Amino acid sequence: MVTSVSILGATGSIGTSTLNLIRDGNFRVVALTANSDAKKLASLAKEFGAEIAAVSDEAAYPELKSALAGTQIRALASATGMAEAAAAKSDILLSAIVGAAGLAPTIAGFASGRKIALANKECLVTAGSLFMREAQKKNATVLPVDSEHNAVFQALACGRRDAVRKVTLTASGGPFRTMSRERLAVVTPEEAVRHPNWSMGAKISIDSATLMNKGLELIEAAYLFDLAPSQLDVLIHPQSVVHALVEFHDGSVVAQMAHPDMRIPIGFCLAWPERLAWDAPKLDLAKLGALHFEAPDYDRFPSLRLARNALEAGGGAPNVLNAANEVAIEAFRARRLSFDGIPGLVEAVLTQAGKEGLLREVSTVNDALGVDHVARSIAATLLPQFAAKAS
Ligand code: NDP
Ligand code: MG
Repeated sequence: MVTSVSILGATGSIGTSTLNLIRDGNFRVVALTANSDAKKLASLAKEFGAEIAAVSDEAAYPELKSALAGTQIRALASATGMAEAAAAKSDILLSAIVGAAGLAPTIAGFASGRKIALANKECLVTAGSLFMREAQKKNATVLPVDSEHNAVFQALACGRRDAVRKVTLTASGGPFRTMSRERLAVVTPEEAVRHPNWSMGAKISIDSATLMNKGLELIEAAYLFDLAPSQLDVLIHPQSVVHALVEFHDGSVVAQMAHPDMRIPIGFCLAWPERLAWDAPKLDLAKLGALHFEAPDYDRFPSLRLARNALEAGGGAPNVLNAANEVAIEAFRARRLSFDGIPGLVEAVLTQAGKEGLLREVSTVNDALGVDHVARSIAATLLPQFAAKAS
């Protein structure tokens, strides 16, 4: 049977890996989206015979429209076009937009019996309770693409939920794992995007360098698997072979291992509950010889501490943390903020947001996006103070 798939964020790193698997498998593509890269989107839509191609950025619409002229592919744009593309009928919606921008289109794609293959962790960080509640209400199944969460999902199948004691997510430690605090203060965006094990988009690569990515993943795991913050832990594992561990009450620890290649968790989600038979890279443990683990250093990587605190605070704190972090990453990439200014700015935004009463729980997507918006403007207002410290 042919499985139909739509991809939000088709032009990105996860989108590309997904299309690589789809190219060789028994799939049909329904809708593909991008932010502004109309040229790449149109070419993918034509190659895969999509029905719909949508750009979020309206300014990219004329280029998309003209590139698709003479084809049967519908060109759409803006928030409504993205929602329409997400809602178009298909078996699987793969959500791989980067950032909080992924929230509204992903929720627009919830439908009964539909599988939501979720790479966009920011959906769960900005509005975790709301997101999971809506998925349940619409009877959509959320499957984690994020490698650690995909590993937890697989390991959880080995026991009853009430027998789970602890869930540990591994982290490579990023490119600066062993770097001194002094050297960390002056790293460049080019150094930060060079991840040792994974090839990913720029934002998540920088998040991996600050360890904010692991912090966002703790929050993602808490909502996705309904776990208390005290049940969640992080372990540094530079080889990225063991992706997560689930400890049960009887002392058994179940871990999932795989070569670090995002096509493996993506393929899992595309085929679930079956297994995709493809020529996946093999894990050669004899060649590796040893696996290394160590505790995370919360002092050199304060973003991880900030995220853990936000998880424990709950309510709107993770949303504010995420918005501030997105602004901080953009400023770092534009060389307006130093690497160690990233957690500084995020912490200051959280403090200010607390004073403005923004850390409460929200009940609608619009409210969550409203908090996201205000947190971004607080970050923009505070940024010059931190930029000044950086120079
Ligand atoms: P990329 O930056 O490579 O790709 C992002 C995609 O989202 C592109 O298609 C981009 O379109 C689109 N996009 C960007 N901004 C917007 C917007 N405002 N509205 C609509 N679409 C937008 O990101 P990744 O593929 O690396 O990551 C995607 C998500 O998956 C992230 O949430 C990340 O945390 C998560 N993830 C990624 C992993 C990886 O290995 N890359 C691993 C685990 C999780 P355009 O090309 O036009 O800019
Ligand atoms: Mg991950």
